[in-house]
Amino acid sequence: MKNIIFIAPPSAGKGTISDYFVKHYGYEHLSTGDLLRSEVARGTNLGKEINDIISKGNLVSDELIIRLVSQELEKLKDKPFILDGFPRTLAQAEELDQMLVTLGVSHNVVIYLDVPLDIAMARALGRVVCPKCKRSYNINNPKLSPQKNNICDDCGTILERRSDDTEETFRKRYETFLTSTIPITQFYQNKGMLVKVDATDELELIYEKILSLTKQDEA
Ligand code: AMP
Repeated sequence: MKNIIFIAPPSAGKGTISDYFVKHYGYEHLSTGDLLRSEVARGTNLGKEINDIISKGNLVSDELIIRLVSQELEKLKDKPFILDGFPRTLAQAEELDQMLVTLGVSHNVVIYLDVPLDIAMARALGRVVCPKCKRSYNINNPKLSPQKNNICDDCGTILERRSDDTEETFRKRYETFLTSTIPITQFYQNKGMLVKVDATDELELIYEKILSLTKQDEA
């Protein structure tokens, strides 16, 4: 199966879709947002700096995220993997190209999850996440709500809201997506690697579409 690289505005469903492919198809999942939040949770000086950037809806530096991802990608390369949240700038996309060549990883599909601001914002404002296993829920969607109020179905941990899921920060994150991340779509389109998926569809339909994309061109 092909590796999946998600390009998406905030709250398009990258985390939920990734969880599904991890559970059902054995994908490895690398979420750069989770990587950064783990550093924040460690309370290091770097974590404090990262927290300041994330809670304002800005992007951490290309240099930092590229360093973190290159360390992690090395560990993932032998299984199908999902990149969730990377690349987010043109510089990151160009660097990723090099990393994949160096690692000899060639079966990839880039999926642009398209969702308008109002729907994405409603999702962000309903989102709660498990700080331990990172599973994401949505209290406004019965299919994505936890079985017990505010408790993770998988590990029993009390769920939390993300500090950047406020209306003000969400707007800023969406704007950052439009200015910094949208240019990547052209980059991948030029390489013939980009497929757009409507992320407002029913989840089952989205899973089905993505599954077929991961199998395309395979013997
Ligand atoms: P996410 O969990 O993907 O919504 O990411 C949460 C936040 O982490 C983003 O709003 C950024 O502040 C930061 N972040 C995640 N991935 C990247 C990246 N590839 N480049 C820069 N900042 C990132």
